[in-house]
Amino acid sequence: MQVLLVEDDNLLADAVVVALKRHNFAINRVSNGKDALLVTETTPPDIVILDLGLPDMDGIDVLRKFRRQGFANPVLILTARDSIEDRVTGLDSGADDYLPKPFDIDELLARLRALERRLSKTSSAIIALGNVSLDTNTHELQVDGNQVDLARREYMLLKALMESGNKIQTRESLENKLYSWGEEISSNAVEVHIHHLRKKLPDGFIQTVRGVGYIIRTPKPDSPGGS
Ligand code: CA
Repeated sequence: MQVLLVEDDNLLADAVVVALKRHNFAINRVSNGKDALLVTETTPPDIVILDLGLPDMDGIDVLRKFRRQGFANPVLILTARDSIEDRVTGLDSGADDYLPKPFDIDELLARLRALERRLSKTSSAIIALGNVSLDTNTHELQVDGNQVDLARREYMLLKALMESGNKIQTRESLENKLYSWGEEISSNAVEVHIHHLRKKLPDGFIQTVRGVGYIIRTPKPDSPGGS
C-alpha cells in the first residue's frame, strides 16, 4: 500500500513516516500543494494523508483539484481546524475521512487500515483467497490453517497481490507499493521477493503474466460451495 503524506510540519511528518514504515506502508512525503498535485497526477498513491494548512495552497483547494484531476483514491484530511463546519467542508470536497490534530498515531493507523479495506472492497481485516488468508492487522499469513512467517517486504508484496483480486499487478506498481522514495531497490527486487513467497504458498498461487507482471490464481475449493 503506497501512502502519500502532504504535510509541511517536519516534526509531525517525520513521526508519521517512521510509524507508517514500521507498519509496512510505503510512504512518500511532500510538503506543499503543488508537489502533491504533481505526484497524484504522475504516480497516483493508494491513499493520501492531506494537511489543510499548507504553505502554498489551502488543503481544501488541493483536495478539489485532486478530484478534478480524476484522482479517486481515499484522502484522509489531517488538520488543526476542528470546527464542524470545516469537517463538513472537507468531506463535501471529496475527503474520505478526517482526523483532527493533535492525534494519536494508533488512531491514524487504524483509520488508514479502514480506508485500505474500503479500497480493496474487503469488509474485514482478513483477506482470504482459497486456503490462503492474510490478516492485515496482525500481518499473519495462514496457509491451510498453518501459520507461515513472512519477511516485511514479502508481506507487503503478498498483500498488494491479494488485494488486487483478479487484476494483474505490474512489476512497477508492485515496486511502488513496496518501497518508499529514496529506498534502494535492486532491479530484480520484486522477482526475488516473489521467489521467496512462492515457496511459502500453494503451487500456482502467484502466477507470472509474462512481460506484464503477476496475478493471484485462487485454487478451486475442494467441495462445491465450500469456502
Ligand atoms: Ca500545516
